[in-house]
Amino acid sequence: MLFKDVAETLERISLEQSINKKVEIIGDLLRRAAPEEIDVVSRFVIGKPFPEWSGKELNVGWRTVLKAAVNVTGVDSGEIVKLFKRYGDTGSVVEAILEKRKPTLLSPVKPLTVLEVHEILEKIAGISGEGSFQGRVKLVEHMLVRASPIEAKYICRLLLGELRCGFNEGLLEHAIARAFDIDVKKIRKANMLLSDIGYVAKLSKLKPPKIEDVKIEFFRPVRFMLAEQAESIAEAWRYHSGRVAVECKYDGARVQVHKLGDKVKIFSRRMEDITDSLPEVVREIVDIEGEFIVDGEIVCWKNGPMPFQYLVRRLRRKTLSDELLETYPVKLFAFDILKVGGRDLIDEPYISRVKVLEKVLKGAWNVIEIAERKFPSSEEECTEIFENCTKRGFEGVLIKAIDSPYVPGRRERLWFKYKGEIGRHIHEFTLVIIAAEYGHGKRAGLLSDYVFAAWDRNREKLIPVGKAYTGLKDREIAYMTKRLKEIALYESGNRIYVKPKIVVDVAASEIQISPKYPLGYALRFPRIVRIRPDLSLEDVDTVEKIEKAFLRDVKFKSVS
Ligand code: AMP
Repeated sequence: MLFKDVAETLERISLEQSINKKVEIIGDLLRRAAPEEIDVVSRFVIGKPFPEWSGKELNVGWRTVLKAAVNVTGVDSGEIVKLFKRYGDTGSVVEAILEKRKPTLLSPVKPLTVLEVHEILEKIAGISGEGSFQGRVKLVEHMLVRASPIEAKYICRLLLGELRCGFNEGLLEHAIARAFDIDVKKIRKANMLLSDIGYVAKLSKLKPPKIEDVKIEFFRPVRFMLAEQAESIAEAWRYHSGRVAVECKYDGARVQVHKLGDKVKIFSRRMEDITDSLPEVVREIVDIEGEFIVDGEIVCWKNGPMPFQYLVRRLRRKTLSDELLETYPVKLFAFDILKVGGRDLIDEPYISRVKVLEKVLKGAWNVIEIAERKFPSSEEECTEIFENCTKRGFEGVLIKAIDSPYVPGRRERLWFKYKGEIGRHIHEFTLVIIAAEYGHGKRAGLLSDYVFAAWDRNREKLIPVGKAYTGLKDREIAYMTKRLKEIALYESGNRIYVKPKIVVDVAASEIQISPKYPLGYALRFPRIVRIRPDLSLEDVDTVEKIEKAFLRDVKFKSVS
């Protein structure tokens, strides 16, 4: 398939208002794709050229893209600034530049195929070290010389991770279902188990489709099951009529550990392969008999839990010295098991999975422990367990239905988390930073003010919902400045717009009416509670949650 087909289809869906029509158009494209390219096409139409867990990242910023466009066309930088003011998006700027390119007298270039573009993107992802910028520019040029303006626009948007077509993975699941006449529930389940929509599309296209009985595969991470916040212990207890287990809520990073033969891989909640950051866990896992996939939480631990920030510090480091391993020792608290040998366990009830987990991890381990769990016989006992956990430095508890299956990728009421009474009028949201501004005075030269966004209802567009000046320590601001510059999309005055990559927990005392924001209201006095390197865009809240909080505020005010 030619890349032109993909680019033109993306342009069509970006102009299309009807969601149904978008799904139909992408479904047609998938039907036309050959089995050996459908995985690539599927990933391209949602702007994610590689599976999240592949560890491949493009690391291409707008400067790289524009440099390549300038080299290919000879356009001057004054012209670029003008175009930026007009379009505000690198892809459209490059499209406009290429439209002005004079036709050459040389023989016409061979059009780019989807697989060629993919191959070049893989090469770009493989570049590191000295001279990377130049190397990436060269490879981008390589594509742009052969691209038409519309192809160039979508190549650049792919490179920058921003397609702006109003099409996401959820809609792609529908498009695959429609293209190959398969129940969308089966597609969704397969995607949760395999965490690779490209592979799911490929399995759906095969004849007969291999999507019917997808099993969990070792070394392909399964989406994590998530917990719903409970307002009170009573809510969780009553919802499950007391048929619950209560576990400590460890304040660390979620991990999934795969072991097959003497090979071990550990994936983060963002599906990244973080095996190399946890050598002491790997060493112990290798010694455990059998093949399994275990779910748990990694915590920095010295005679008790250490603050979450310690773990962040440790996971951020590329090289691990002995000193670092000693300063920030970790423990793995395993709380669930998804597969043992060839047997998938996710449809079995919690209580049976836990028994298997205990059998698999039997023996005394140093770094690995099974999460503490109790089976209370009354609501009061449930409260006592919670109080005991928080007294010992844990964040709270998880209250899990003992009959519940493991539901990958879903925030269901099968698991409740409870961290105690949060003040009625303090709200906390998980948001993503989309822009940042330089500070003043002591913070001049530092990107210290951040604009946050939440997803719209359909999880298609990010909507700005507030701006914060406070909450981070100087060291964190310095780190953020460096990181934000790395992911910059373009600059405008004092503000830089960035790829939506940095996820943060934000607290706000109130939601207030604000005509400046697209929703008509915004967070008042927002404060970053913590940076969440363990989360990805999928974890960001939708505006619905903010709307609910807004309505609660209004109700609260009218009674108080
Ligand atoms: P939150 O990140 O606030 O949505 O809380 C859910 C997270 O708590 C999970 O994703 C895990 O990382 C973490 N967690 C800590 N202890 C447990 C536990 N015993 N069971 C499940 N999740 C846990």
